[in-house]
Amino acid sequence: MPFADPWSRLTGFYQRKVASLAYRRLFSVHPQRPLISFTFDDFPRSAIRTGGAILNRFGVAGTYYAALGLVDQSTPSGQIFSVEDLPALFEQGHELGCHTFAHCDSWETPTEVFEKSLVDNRAALHRLFPDVDFKTFAYPINLPKPRTKARTSEYFASCRGGGQRINIGRVDLNQLSAYFLEKTRDNFQAIRDIVDENRRASGWLIFATHDVSENPTPFGCTPEFFHDVVQYAVSSGAQIVPVVEALNILGVQGCEVRQSIRSRPRPAVQVSDQTAPAKPLVSILIPAYNAQDWIADTLRSAIAQTWEPKEIIVVDDGSTDQTLEIARKFESGTIRVLSQKNQGAASARNTALSLCRGDYIQWLDADKWRSWMELGTSESSFLQSLASSCTSGTARNLFRAVCGTICPLRSGSSARWVTISICRQPPGWSAVS
Ligand SMILES: [Zn+2]
Repeated sequence: MPFADPWSRLTGFYQRKVASLAYRRLFSVHPQRPLISFTFDDFPRSAIRTGGAILNRFGVAGTYYAALGLVDQSTPSGQIFSVEDLPALFEQGHELGCHTFAHCDSWETPTEVFEKSLVDNRAALHRLFPDVDFKTFAYPINLPKPRTKARTSEYFASCRGGGQRINIGRVDLNQLSAYFLEKTRDNFQAIRDIVDENRRASGWLIFATHDVSENPTPFGCTPEFFHDVVQYAVSSGAQIVPVVEALNILGVQGCEVRQSIRSRPRPAVQVSDQTAPAKPLVSILIPAYNAQDWIADTLRSAIAQTWEPKEIIVVDDGSTDQTLEIARKFESGTIRVLSQKNQGAASARNTALSLCRGDYIQWLDADKWRSWMELGTSESSFLQSLASSCTSGTARNLFRAVCGTICPLRSGSSARWVTISICRQPPGWSAVS
């Protein structure tokens, strides 16, 4: 439950000052690529069943701060998870983090009682999963008083509070900042602003919330809102990882990833014509050769693009690394993955072109995800306006104005085709209708 009880408004300033200045463990946070983590406190069953499914749809995972004393209970933040939910949590690549067992208030509770409660939480977890350990913690209800902060931080690689800020520069690992989604769930612009700030600063943004449900408690949000936040986060180019994995990326000792995984195992779905979606508007074609370091991010960014319906086709051109295996984990109704023996980029493109069914084609080289990200939302919204104009017959003019060149792709074709080569700067465009 949240950091916004009414009484805390009165004492909030004092608490924030005291807690934030005491017992700090400063660590330099300057990731090469912006980081975003999604976290859930307590945690309600809908956070894993609905929120987790949305994260997994984008090929990413989150952190769940469990208070095992609340299991199966009905609380102000919703119906709490059941023990049966935990294996799926691990299978889907999420991290299980620690709250306190009894969800005791971090400021109000005597330090010894608080410490016993987090030890009880760990013991309860070990009874269920002897091999699993908590690496990260979130303070329940309020920021901790200084002694509690000092004691708690001895158990964990990081402890998370609130504050509605990004983490950047010299950051206190004993009190990481988080942005609670429920505070701005009626104001999506605030989400855009904080994600954009995180992108510009190349920082670490930790989102937090509770339930994700159609009728959310005051401490949660709707699936639609959560979906839009995840989509905006992914398309910002940030790396979306559980907290422990972010710590590992930043170089914090003792955070080698055990619970979570880089590319979540997604059951491979064989796509047949019967299950293929309606004719797509946009086909995103990804020829890939030895792109194991890029292919997962490329696919996530493609999944995050908002033109619907879309299809994504990966043609692996005989890679000798893990490209094909990683891409196959993303197969779904909209993502097809094919492999051919190595014949060069032109051949891989022709293969993809022969399979695609969209009115617009987007070429996306598997090693170019970063420049795709750098083009960012302006490109995305530009393409959106392009897509909406396709039926009004202005696409040709629009493209001529922007790109300067229009080249026939298939002579005699009545379909509207657009090829877009994503390059560094500037992007090269070509189109025909
Ligand atoms: Zn809580």
